[in-house]
Amino acid sequence: MDNPPCDNLRQMKTRIQETCRRTGRDPSEILLVAVSKTKPNSAIEEVFECGQRHFGENRARELQGKMSQIHHNGIIWHFVGPLQTNKIKYMVERVDWIHSVYKKKYLNEIEKRAREAGRSIQILIQINISGEGQKQGCKPEAVSDLLKHAQSMDCLRIRGVMGMATFTGDKDLIRGEFKLLKEVFDSHQHLNGGAVRLDHISMGMTNDFEIAIEEGSTMIRVGTAIFGEREYH
Ligand SMILES: *Cc1c(COP(=O)(O)O)cnc(C)c1O
Repeated sequence: MDNPPCDNLRQMKTRIQETCRRTGRDPSEILLVAVSKTKPNSAIEEVFECGQRHFGENRARELQGKMSQIHHNGIIWHFVGPLQTNKIKYMVERVDWIHSVYKKKYLNEIEKRAREAGRSIQILIQINISGEGQKQGCKPEAVSDLLKHAQSMDCLRIRGVMGMATFTGDKDLIRGEFKLLKEVFDSHQHLNGGAVRLDHISMGMTNDFEIAIEEGSTMIRVGTAIFGEREYH
């Protein structure tokens, strides 16, 4: 049996605070996104009731369903999964953050649909930091071109970068990949202007969020440690 998610959430916050204390960081710099993919609405409601506001999903259809069924005031939805052009129109009607943008065609489509919906969307550029073929994201070399392209957009706010480390027990490998993401974030600050204002690094999940915080993460995306193991994907 899983623990009640609210207990898990409290423990998670304690672990974030401890990691911050150890590394001389302020816990208020770390935004916790509760990744609720595959979990029922009731689990989201439970965690919302104990104070969590940011929720993340990685499948467009699942997110769409949950956003249309859960209407709590103050809930903030993040999409962290693979984008598909034909899903963007519906997503932007309610989503607040999209972490997984790495092509101009997605920037253009989000801008167009957000304008139609009269909304403003917070965007993170996903970088492939693991170098694994199957992982989504652009190469670090492609980031400046994307940012320059996005500067003149009206409905997007380009807030930073997102990355996923290799799924491995090798902490040095994970740390190296997070350092790379921090470097990409730092080395593109000169492109701030217009719609681009880089102030977030989304890195760290259940198994590696402590390393991520040590390496400068400002947003961690945590599923399993809050909601328990998933039965599929
Ligand atoms: C599932 C998922 C997470 C959360 O993973 P856990 O290991 O359960 O914490 C974070 N980010 C993305 C992009 C995911 O797909």
